[in-house]
Amino acid sequence: MIIRSAQFVKSSPEVKQCPESTLPEYAFIGRSNVGKSSLINMLTGMKALAKVSGTPGKTQLINHFDINGSWYLVDLPGYGYARTGKKQRAVFAEMIKQYIVSRESLHCLFVLIDSRHKPQPIDSEFINWLGNNGIPFALVFTKADKLSSSKLNESLMQYKKHLYESWEELPQIFISSAVTRTGRDEILNYIDDINKLLKEQSK
Ligand code: GDP
Repeated sequence: MIIRSAQFVKSSPEVKQCPESTLPEYAFIGRSNVGKSSLINMLTGMKALAKVSGTPGKTQLINHFDINGSWYLVDLPGYGYARTGKKQRAVFAEMIKQYIVSRESLHCLFVLIDSRHKPQPIDSEFINWLGNNGIPFALVFTKADKLSSSKLNESLMQYKKHLYESWEELPQIFISSAVTRTGRDEILNYIDDINKLLKEQSK
């Protein structure tokens, strides 16, 4: 897919305030510092479309971007900040979950995981919640350039093993690097394929 245009549309504190669901949308989520902004900027080719975050917890809004006038890229707030309070975290988690379960035009949620990290309970809980709610999602292992290819394989194997403890089938998995642009074509083509399918179905 060629990105001809990528434009910020709106930041919404809640799903009710999100733009009308006129376009298929694809959202990105992950723990703070996982590399979400860098990935979004890499995918869209816009250096500063999503703000590469300095202060975790600052961007607690649902951010819609119009891509090529044909789909929405949605930058969701990160989850699991250490610095925000428990109560605020709960409100926040509820807001994200509401968006995820009620947004019918959401066709894939990309869940970002740092390639270097062992499976973390907060990610596993979230992934299990997605599965139990029938939400279409894919996993993106970020910052792949920070590992040698053998370490990357090892880390992925471990993660898959962990997933197989709860799931019979694995979700779609992507490997990405904002530095080497690894994964860009794969993720964009995946989105493109779904968009084409949706067009076919609406004919
Ligand atoms: P966010 O909080 O999830 O939006 O994460 P950011 O995109 O702000 O990235 C967090 C930090 O990781 C920043 O210092 C980035 O420069 C760095 N980073 C993000 N993606 C990559 C990557 O693919 N490779 C490397 N080496 N660093 C990355």
